[in-house]
Amino acid sequence: MKDTHKHQGLRNQLVKTISAKGITDTQVLQAIGNIPRHLFMDSGFVDFAYQDKAFPIAAEQTISQPYTVAFQSELLKVKKGAKILEIGTGSGYQTAVLIEMGAKVHTIERQQELFRKTKSFILKLGYKPKSIIFGDGYKGLPSEAPFDGIIVTAGAPFVPSALLAQLKIGGRLVIPVGDEVQIMTLFIRTSEKDFEKHELGDFKFVPMLKEKN
Ligand code: SAH
Repeated sequence: MKDTHKHQGLRNQLVKTISAKGITDTQVLQAIGNIPRHLFMDSGFVDFAYQDKAFPIAAEQTISQPYTVAFQSELLKVKKGAKILEIGTGSGYQTAVLIEMGAKVHTIERQQELFRKTKSFILKLGYKPKSIIFGDGYKGLPSEAPFDGIIVTAGAPFVPSALLAQLKIGGRLVIPVGDEVQIMTLFIRTSEKDFEKHELGDFKFVPMLKEKN
């Protein structure tokens, strides 16, 4: 499938929609305006790709709603060249947004099927994360730590301490915390020991799969 003028037109509308909902970071809006979201979706849903909604992907997971992707990406305050860890590669859409914003992205997926499919897909599309890893997001990625930002794209039952530990001083963790409904939570590491915590409203994500021992 291709990316056409029609798709670009729909994307421009989507950018207007999410900016009307309060997203102001121009890097985020540009990324969403550039990325062919329809290519990240299963063929049955491509006609809806530019609606501001989540949709099913493989393995009972979802591609997050564009507004949610934008909201989380804005909270990360990505600078060019920033080192970012994403937990929950899923369709690869959020990964692509971060790469478009100039981040060096490491991304972890816990489901083998999605990991394989998305890895080959996003590389083919020309998005090159620093690494795409099949593993358990609760553990983070100690070999690459510390990070400027960590983004969790599944509902976390609690805040994994490994993720807080892998932030640089000044680094930001964006994580939806909760079971049925999640509170979008931002942690900013202000010193070796201290974190600022901000709670930024309710969202609904698929649950983060259990920790592996
Ligand atoms: N960022 C994705 C959102 C996908 S939904 C996108 O833009 O499409 C959340 C993803 O998190 C799913 O793919 C799910 O398999 C993955 N996931 C759930 N628990 C995980 C864990 N413990 N470690 C890593 N990935 C996990």
